[in-house]
Amino acid sequence: MLLSVLPSVDEVLKSPDGTRWLSTFRRKRVLQAIRSTLEAKRALLLNGRSAEFNPDLLANDIEKTIHELSAFSLTPVINATGIVIHTNLGRAILSEKVLENVLAVSSGYSNLEYDLESGKRGKRHTHTTRLLKEITGAEDALIVNNNAAAVLLCLNTLATGREVVVSRGELVEIGGSFRVPDVMAAGNALLREVGTTNKTHLRDYIHAINEHTGLLLKVHQSNYKIIGFTDEVKIEELVSLGRRHQIPVMYDLGSGCLLDLKPYGIYSEPSVKEIVKAGVDVVSFSGDKLLGGPQGGIIAGRKEYLDKIRRNPLARAVRADKLAIAAFEATFMAYIDEENAIEEIPTLHMLVESPATIRSRANKIASALRRVVKDVQIEVIPDSSKAGGGSLPEVEFPTFAVSIRPVRISVNELETRLRKGITPVIARIKDDSLLLDARTIQKKELGCLVTAVVTSLSAA
Ligand SMILES: *Cc1c(COP(=O)(O)O)cnc(C)c1O
Repeated sequence: MLLSVLPSVDEVLKSPDGTRWLSTFRRKRVLQAIRSTLEAKRALLLNGRSAEFNPDLLANDIEKTIHELSAFSLTPVINATGIVIHTNLGRAILSEKVLENVLAVSSGYSNLEYDLESGKRGKRHTHTTRLLKEITGAEDALIVNNNAAAVLLCLNTLATGREVVVSRGELVEIGGSFRVPDVMAAGNALLREVGTTNKTHLRDYIHAINEHTGLLLKVHQSNYKIIGFTDEVKIEELVSLGRRHQIPVMYDLGSGCLLDLKPYGIYSEPSVKEIVKAGVDVVSFSGDKLLGGPQGGIIAGRKEYLDKIRRNPLARAVRADKLAIAAFEATFMAYIDEENAIEEIPTLHMLVESPATIRSRANKIASALRRVVKDVQIEVIPDSSKAGGGSLPEVEFPTFAVSIRPVRISVNELETRLRKGITPVIARIKDDSLLLDARTIQKKELGCLVTAVVTSLSAA
């Protein structure tokens, strides 16, 4: 076949397809796609593989390339894992109400650092401090980029060049890059380990205290649990020890739950309010774990320490941006009354949703699938989900999942196709079945999810 069967770039651009592409996609992307596709076809023809070239499919190939070149890298996925605070899938999801505030504040100018009262320069912290004080019970509070930054900033402010006493049972690593000893070093503080992996006593802390001690630090074990012959020192005991020696006491709470979850059967997670009430000088926690807000790190505690922390030059380096501040203010507003918080904050709502409601959502997905897919075993089965994000590692949340056992393709193939689809679906495999945990599947995603599964099951 002659190379002359290939149209020119200009001819393709001027064709009806070309006009259509130009009206929706960026011109540069359209050109790149036409050029690279024509180039590939030319190579086929030159290599004598003209049998593989079908001129009728040329426009199709170009369009596919335009889509690939125009797609965003960061894109929505359907979380069918049942893991509510999935760090790899973006942790907490935000409610419409919160997003409305982000849009309102960021689509125009705002009083981010402008005091409307005096007409003078203001501080970005002021927008969230009052609400944070109200819902944590602390004297003062500050938001920074994330909890890792919060811990770093606190250590660097309160204990630079000084020793920080930590139990060996709490020298945790979270998600690979946050390790307590490394953050300590980065903050220019000296780690003083006490106790053993499974047991640390108050006397261990007492023996470690000397004239170089700058801080007593307790770290939430987050993503693991030591069980069996164990002992740790309660925060109240550390607080009174700190008082006696005039050494500040800090608690890195990790997830940081702003609600008392006991009414929902969760006893292992102290609320931030309880920790503040116990008298801790500084507490830090994440914004996008159990709290259910945007990425951020919250530092709450005594005013004298918060003042020092705010004055540290590092505070500027790890400050929160206006999108996060807008999202936080709206999120905190939902916490003003507890019932509200459970209803309005998607993370909390998903965690405490009743198994019956989850089952009815799973049933809906299963029936929609059965209507279209005939030869595949589809059932709704009881299972258990996890909180994730290093939160509540020991708590199993009873859930319901749609279990799919494909026949024409393997379950691994199904999992791969779903993951690589137009709307990626992240699912779990268990005993040769693919599980779609209905806990984390949003109502608005049901249609898309069903289409994705049907397409994946039928694609050759
Ligand atoms: C998650 C966690 C962190 C890190 O928080 P990010 O907000 O992810 O930076 C630090 N400490 C503990 C105990 C945690 O659980």
